[in-house]
Amino acid sequence: MKIVIVGNGAAAIKALEAMATHKVMSSADQGRITIISRERTAPYSPMFLVDYLTRELGEEDILLGEKHGLSPHRLLGEKVIRVEDSENKVVLENGVKPCLYKHLTYF
Ligand SMILES: Cc1cc2nc3c(=O)[nH]c(=O)nc-3n(C[C@H](O)[C@H](O)[C@H](O)COP(=O)(O)OP(=O)(O)OC[C@H]3O[C@@H](n4cnc5c(N)ncnc54)[C@H](O)[C@@H]3O)c2cc1C
Repeated sequence: MKIVIVGNGAAAIKALEAMATHKVMSSADQGRITIISRERTAPYSPMFLVDYLTRELGEEDILLGEKHGLSPHRLLGEKVIRVEDSENKVVLENGVKPCLYKHLTYF
């Protein structure tokens, strides 16, 4: 089973937590989760961006904690431009190799 999640924000982290809580993956499959995000950052909360930009908060204050215990492969800085459902394929910008999925979630 290969799961692709488009997005690396709060919704994606919640999805990973739900997968871990409900044990939807076998231990062998846990390395088969791929997260794609056009941003290059670790998961963060945009709602604190202003405080970060005005230096009232540091980087560590706006990063989202991850407690799911899964180790998804992260493709950061890659923009999804199209999903080809009939071929279970996520197409990335700049001719990067398409990402194949069995299950796809996008936020
Ligand atoms: C300035 C600001 C202040 C806010 N204040 C509040 C508040 O006070 N209270 C509140 O409840 N909410 C607030 N929000 C909203 C809150 O931040 C969002 O609801 C929350 O971040 C949504 O989480 P998400 O994971 O769905 O999306 P996001 O955090 O937006 O994450 C989207 C992810 O998808 C990726 N992505 C998107 N398109 C593509 C693509 N084509 N290809 C690859 N990756 C892609 C992005 O890189 C990112 O990783 C605020 C938002 C902003 C911007």
